[in-house]
Amino acid sequence: MGNEKVKITDWTIYPADRNFHLFLEIRTDQGVSGWGACYSEKGQAIGALHWLKRFVIGENPLEIERVTEKLHQITFWLGRGGAMTHAISAVNLALWDVAGKILQQPVSVLLGGSLRQTVPAYGSILFVPLETLAERIQRMKESGFRAIKLGWEPFGRESVAQDEALIRKAREAAGNDTRLLIDMGGSYPFWKLRLKDALERARMLKDYGVYWLEEPLAPDDIEGYARLTEQSPIKIAHGEVLTRRQSFSPYFDRRAMDIAQPDVSKVGGLSEMRRIAWMAEERGIELVPHGWNTAVGVAADLHLTSTLSSSSFVEFNVGNPLVESLTSTPFHLNTEGCLEIPDKPGLGIEIDRERLKALEASGFASTSWTWDERKEFETS
Ligand SMILES: [Mg+2]
Repeated sequence: MGNEKVKITDWTIYPADRNFHLFLEIRTDQGVSGWGACYSEKGQAIGALHWLKRFVIGENPLEIERVTEKLHQITFWLGRGGAMTHAISAVNLALWDVAGKILQQPVSVLLGGSLRQTVPAYGSILFVPLETLAERIQRMKESGFRAIKLGWEPFGRESVAQDEALIRKAREAAGNDTRLLIDMGGSYPFWKLRLKDALERARMLKDYGVYWLEEPLAPDDIEGYARLTEQSPIKIAHGEVLTRRQSFSPYFDRRAMDIAQPDVSKVGGLSEMRRIAWMAEERGIELVPHGWNTAVGVAADLHLTSTLSSSSFVEFNVGNPLVESLTSTPFHLNTEGCLEIPDKPGLGIEIDRERLKALEASGFASTSWTWDERKEFETS
């Protein structure tokens, strides 16, 4: 190809989820296309992409950092950190994918090179429905997960005794050879738990061998997180709702987390995520990506975490068709409970457009997040 410039010619948005996740396919004049995705409110993200498009068409997809930084700069006053940043994540991810395909290299090589060929994956599910909890844990163990995360309600919504009954049930189902992680979901609106409530639960969870406690406080409580991280006998993880490296800085400076959980489809894409990872690494904070998103997110997480010495896991959202059903070759857990780093050029996955369109036509909604159907936030 020599010094001939590649140009982005167009893109297509696939709003696969009725609510929150969309896919973006960027096309070039070389016939090469690449995939991005973002996790946001669908209408706002589509609006943001509509506004951004004029600044992307005609650009060289190999100049990932310059093009992405241009988008950050021109939207600095346009709701940075929100849907605009989520939308930039989709563009950035697609640029990495296109660049890898044009250069015929996997993204992990473009990021500097893998330290490992596989990364452990933890299977992520919600506590509810409680009636099937034990059975679902058992199925995940059988499919090869060595680590399982259970999230959100009813954990942390009632008494410590009730939370203890839940974790006892989960530990019985998982046995002692599976690592258990608990996600309280403190980014839930009107979150009530405070530092001492969280500390009480962290101490209780220690007795059940839980590896980390996630989002036990409201996201903005930096001081609470700093004290909790210092006092908790188990690791404290959070950060899935933070975007941009500037939002992580004060938490890192205060050592207000043991484990940072940025979401690559929200924070600004892989370019921003690796800068967050580098900052975390220098402060002795582990980075474990938030992965309740899509196959594009999982692939990007695998490439990035393969380049980090401090990252222990990627998250794998079990039962999510956006992760499990859209790629031509499904992700495969090996006998050690690890996922292989895709070795094909770019992100190394092929999204099946027909399946994507079919999912969209089905009116698919990532149901646990369908807050418009929930009544508990209403005041009357
Ligand atoms: Mg979470």
